[in-house]
Amino acid sequence: MTQGLTVLGATGSIGASTLDVLARHPGRFRVFALTAHRSADALLALCLRHAPRYAVLSGLQEDAGLRRRFAESGCRSELLFGAQALERVASDADCDVLMAAIVGAAGLAPALAGACAGKRILLANKEALVMAGPFFMRAVRECGARLLPVDSEHNAVFQCLPQEAAQSSGRASMKAVRRILLTASGGPFRAAPLERLGSVTPDEACAHPNWAMGRKISVDSATMMNKGLEVIEARWLFDVAPERIEVLIHAQSIIHSLVEFIDGSVIAQLSNPDMRVPIAHALGFPERIESGAVPLDLAAIGTLTFERPDPQRFPCLGLAYAALREGGTAPAVLNAANEVAVAAFLDGKLRYTAIPQVIEHALRSAPATAADCLETVLEADRRARVAASNGVAALMGRAA
Ligand code: NAD
Ligand code: MG
Repeated sequence: MTQGLTVLGATGSIGASTLDVLARHPGRFRVFALTAHRSADALLALCLRHAPRYAVLSGLQEDAGLRRRFAESGCRSELLFGAQALERVASDADCDVLMAAIVGAAGLAPALAGACAGKRILLANKEALVMAGPFFMRAVRECGARLLPVDSEHNAVFQCLPQEAAQSSGRASMKAVRRILLTASGGPFRAAPLERLGSVTPDEACAHPNWAMGRKISVDSATMMNKGLEVIEARWLFDVAPERIEVLIHAQSIIHSLVEFIDGSVIAQLSNPDMRVPIAHALGFPERIESGAVPLDLAAIGTLTFERPDPQRFPCLGLAYAALREGGTAPAVLNAANEVAVAAFLDGKLRYTAIPQVIEHALRSAPATAADCLETVLEADRRARVAASNGVAALMGRAA
């Protein structure tokens, strides 16, 4: 039977890769809903191609003109407006599989709605687990949802774990595992002179050497906050203590992560850097399906290199470990402050090297409390955004 698929964040980079893989498997899925924040034209084009039952514009209010434009273009999808519609299409009885590919904190509530409705969730939106790891995972367990990681590192770890662990509702029995090694490319500034970092531009920060991604995650990759968020994501996804999660710089992005077992064996997952590989894995699981990725040619690549991350170059990584150790709402504060700082950097209002300063300021001024439900986490997120915006304003005066 074909499965109903909702793609949250369909107009983004992960959304495009998901729909590309889907188009290679006609008959396997029917597109139930596609969502975008405000990009109506891009959403309309996707609707004409994939004919979902619902199309959601979560960042816009009811708009009769847009409704008419969709209908006159021959779009038969029902158009819904506003953020509430995301939760509706994530939890609808006709949605079987949910691709959670919204960027940032906005992805949490709809992904959680999918978890509470017992869906099969393909999780790209790492921020959801960073903000709300413990109760998100509880909702997955208690509501009979299934969580399949799409983030390439976590998908790699999932593939390296023993089959019986991978089969048991996404939570692994980690007794045989000594360490998880998350690989990181090191981003565009891995080898740049440290004194250059104060003057790098948004376009330079977004020019990732190996991956084409949305702008927010591209900046996160440059600062390695992306890896910090992924350490937190791995902590909850695989129920493993932070001391057992390490980060290794591997500039070629061929090994997507590794799992070390207590007998000394290390298992790695390799592929060309193409998000269609983990997406196809999650869409097809437990079957393997074609992704469209170019086959890996190791002889042509020749050399794979590894190094430890330099804490001076990548202070955001240390901030993420510290927030994880502090616990409660600290990771949600870290995430919100990072979103504010990255947006200010992309807007040309903040120096690149001030990003960790803004995050540190927010962590200091918004002390962590218990994070036991969606409301407390969203409240911490709101307070952190205020603190971070104040931090940005204070630092803007000092920008070069
Ligand atoms: P993107 O910026 O390309 O796309 C984001 C999507 O979310 C768009 O469809 C946009 O319309 C929608 N969106 C933006 N703000 C929204 C809001 N406030 N409310 C509702 N919808 C909103 O982002 P991306 O690179 O595709 O990343 C999506 C998620 O996947 C992120 O959490 C990212 O960390 C994760 N991820 C991405 C990659 C990658 O290769 N791009 C890899 C691993 C994980
Ligand atoms: Mg990743």
